Amino acid sequence: MWYKKTMRKEQLEAQIEKAKAELLKLGPMRPGSLSQQYSACQKPGCKCVDPVHPQKHGPFYQLSYTHGGKSTTQFVRPPFVPEVRKQLAAYKKFKALTQQWVTLALELCKLEMQEARSAASPSERTPRS
Ligand SMILES: [Zn+2]
Repeated sequence: MWYKKTMRKEQLEAQIEKAKAELLKLGPMRPGSLSQQYSACQKPGCKCVDPVHPQKHGPFYQLSYTHGGKSTTQFVRPPFVPEVRKQLAAYKKFKALTQQWVTLALELCKLEMQEARSAASPSERTPRS
């Protein structure tokens, strides 16, 4: 029983170390989401108002994110889109890994407190009221 618990603790610690190592490997990141938009300028004679085959302008890429309670939306020029997508993916991974780290840390704290409680003498184990 005790051995099993120790193993579990070591497993949690190992998983935390793994998450930390993954975090260190992350490249440039930025929060947000990218949306693609098309528009029509409505100028007479423009391809966007062609009566037979209207072709809207675009795509335009818009990046939206919230940081420090402030929402921002900005346009991203098409040549930068691949890089921005990479940064957004890195941020998603960052969030997932930190979330995982916290989950493991909470689990580890719980285990440690349980261990401390079962190691304590019966009188100490009595809840204070
Ligand atoms: Zn147009």
